[in-house]
Parts: sequence; structure tokens; C-alpha cells
Amino acid sequence: MFGQVFKLILLLFLGSLIGSQIGDNPQRGAFGGVLFFAIGWAIFEQYKRNRLLKWLQNEDFQNRPSRVGDLGAVVDKVVRLNRRQLQENQQSSQRLDDFLSAIQASPNGVLLLDDQLRIEWCNQTAANHLGISMGKDVLQLIGNLVRDPLFSQYLREERVGEEVVILAPGSRPESTKKISLQLFRYGDGRRLLLSRDITQIEQAEVMRRDFVANVSHEIRTPLTVLAGFIETLLTLNVTEEERRGYLELMSQQSMRMQTLVNDLLTLSKLEGSPVPSKSEWTSLMVLWTQCEQEAKSLSNLLYPHNPQSITCEIGDSVKELDFSGSRNELLSAMTNLVSNAVRYTPEAGAIAVKLNLLDSGVLEFKVEDSGPGIAPEHIPRLTERFYRVDRSRSRESGGTGLGLAIVKHVAQRHDAQLSITSQLGKGSCFALRIPAERLRKV
Ligand code: ADP
Repeated sequence: MFGQVFKLILLLFLGSLIGSQIGDNPQRGAFGGVLFFAIGWAIFEQYKRNRLLKWLQNEDFQNRPSRVGDLGAVVDKVVRLNRRQLQENQQSSQRLDDFLSAIQASPNGVLLLDDQLRIEWCNQTAANHLGISMGKDVLQLIGNLVRDPLFSQYLREERVGEEVVILAPGSRPESTKKISLQLFRYGDGRRLLLSRDITQIEQAEVMRRDFVANVSHEIRTPLTVLAGFIETLLTLNVTEEERRGYLELMSQQSMRMQTLVNDLLTLSKLEGSPVPSKSEWTSLMVLWTQCEQEAKSLSNLLYPHNPQSITCEIGDSVKELDFSGSRNELLSAMTNLVSNAVRYTPEAGAIAVKLNLLDSGVLEFKVEDSGPGIAPEHIPRLTERFYRVDRSRSRESGGTGLGLAIVKHVAQRHDAQLSITSQLGKGSCFALRIPAERLRKV
């Protein structure tokens, strides 16, 4: 500021000096010189200001204006402020991008609605849940896009924070995809709509309820029989022979309950325990011998008069192999398959049990029978808990409906595959295939 005043005084002094040297009258010359230099100064100052104003109006902050003299300090300040502003803008746009990417990554759907309930933004999950296209549905009323009557009522009543469950819009009628929606208020009248696919949770809940109902039913039947016999023994005078007969029947029922509880415990252990260690090795020959014995003794027990023909065949190369995984689990899977073949094949039927190494190095445990066979529509459901094709046959022969569910779990825990093929009226073939990585030579 003082520098500028000093410069002006110096310039006017120079003007008066030069003016006094020109012409006849030094006083008038000095005055003229001062006036000339003062006007020149004012014009130059105005010129600088105009350049600065133009630069500011054009917002061309990348290029500094030239010939702005002492206003250069203002230019510097503006350039610095602009740079800082740009950096802040970049940072906040980066933060916004990060925030939106985080919401995009969410397994739940997020929709932002304005105060009129029009869609402002939604993540891909919400778009998939509600059949919305962000490209063309932005600023559309959510109520026009999701037309489920339950949802319309939910919006009308504005049950903020509550949950409403609808069928996924646009899904096929036979599909039972269920979406849970929850509305919240935020900001200035805006709404946040969260969506969640609860199909699997609902299915799991249905399965849990079915399971509890099935277990209760399975236990109630033998319990009712037991209670009836106890009542009879307590209240009626029965002969020694009758008493013995009742006690035998009671023993059968309690054994049935015991088998059921054992299978349930096995299943719950399989579902809840960590996958068996791969470092535990068992000789396949030992498992094979046990399995063979069980098949024959069960068959003898069930058909003492007209025995089945049971052939057991093990490949020579398999005899020297060890298997990695849980010994008890594999034995339980093998004996379940063998016991099913024995139980469902009528007397004098034929059963072939084989343990062989396939060309691919995979170990195959195969049980073929000449039993009643299974219709194709039942095959995909056989490994469901308590699924039975022939209920009475299963119960009569001591089945629990859990055997194949156990086999499926054991297979999954050992990277193995269970294959079921069958022809109605001709017989069935159950094969368990264990990958080569789980085998080693002794
Ligand atoms: P269960 O204890 O009733 O045998 P599983 O889970 O072992 O239960 O088998 C499920 C159902 O599959 C059985 O009830 C039976 O109807 C059918 N099944 C299993 N194995 C055979 C087989 N070898 N031949 C015919 N049907 C079979």
C-alpha cells in the first residue's frame, strides 16, 4: 500500500520535473506533467483491474493473467484458493465414490427415496430384489414399480421401521422368492428403504419346523405303543406267555427309539462338527471286513429261512490302500447303504457289494440290489431327512428315514459323491465315489 503511494508520488514528481523542462513556463509545464502522469497512472490501474476481472469471470485459474502489476498477489491468492478447493472437491468425490461402492457391496438392498417416495438412487442388490433398472426408473414413484398390495398398504400407513415381506416383483408365479422391506426416515423428509432376500431363511425355518414335527412323530409312535403295553401289564391279569410277548414287543419299540436317537445324534454331529482331519488314515481292508460282516449278519437276521445271495468283491489294488478322513463316518455311510440294500430287497434276492479303484484313481464303493427299485421322481429327494418312498417297509425293517441323509453328509465332508440309479421293479445301485487325493498306498 505504502509502496504504491510512494511510487505514485515519485511518478508525479517525475512528471512535474519533466513538465517544467518543456515549454516556456516551468510552472504550467510542471502542472501539465503531473496531470499527464496522474491520468496515465489511473488508466494503467484501470487496465490492470479489467484484466483481473476478466480472468476471474472466465475462471481460467490454470493460466495466470500477465501485466496485472501489483495485483499479482491477488492472483496468487485466488490460484491457491482454487487449488485447495479442487483438492477438497476431489477428496469428497472420492469419499462419495468409496461410500457408494461400500453400499454396492452390501448383500442387502439399499434404496434412497425423496420426500415424494421417488427413487433417487439404489444399489444393484435392491435393483435385483425389486426388478428396478437404475437407468430408466430413477425418479419413478416406488409405489408404481412395486405393486404388491402389502407393500402399497405399508407405504400408505407409513409403518416406518417395521418390516413387510412381499413376493419378489417380476418373479415367476411358481417361484417363492421372498423379499423383506423396511422403511426408515432420514434427512429432510427423505426415506431409506432396505431390502433383504429372506427366501433361504424362510426355507430353513420351514425345514426346522418340519424336522421337529417329524422327530416328534417318529418318537410318539413307539412311545404310544410302549405306554399301551405298560398300561396293559399294570391293569390286566395276563398269562406268563402273554407277558413275555408284550415285553418282546416293548423291547422292539424301545430299540426303534434307540436307533432313531442314535441316527439323530450322528446327523447332528455330522452337521455341527468340523470337517474330519485329512491326516487320519484308516485301512480300507479293515472297513471292508466290518461292512461285509454287517451285511451278512443283518441279512441272516431278517431272512433266516430264505436267505439273500450277497456277493462281496474287493479289487486287489484296494486291499493295500489307506483312506484319509473319519473312519467311523465312512463305515457308517458304507453300512447304511448295505443295510438299505438288505432291508429293501426281498428274501432270496441278490445283492452285490463292490469296492474298486476306477481308471481315474477314484475309489468306488458300489451296492447293487435286485430289490423293488425306486421311481425317478423320488431319487432327488432320497437324501432328505425322513424322506421315505415306502413308509411301512422302512419302519417294518427298522428304518429311521435318516440313513441316506447321513450318507450324503459323510460324502460331502470327504469330497465324495453319492450317485443313485434305479429301475422300478428291477433294483437299485448306490455308489459312493471318493477322490484319489484321499487315498494312499500302505
Ligand atoms: P430308511 O431308514 O427309511 O431306510 P434311508 O434314508 O436310508 O431311510 O432311505 C430313504 C428311503 O429311500 C427309504 O425309506 C426307501 O424308501 C428308499 N431306499 C433306500 N435304499 C433303497 C434300496 N436299496 N431300494 C429301494 N429303496 C430304497
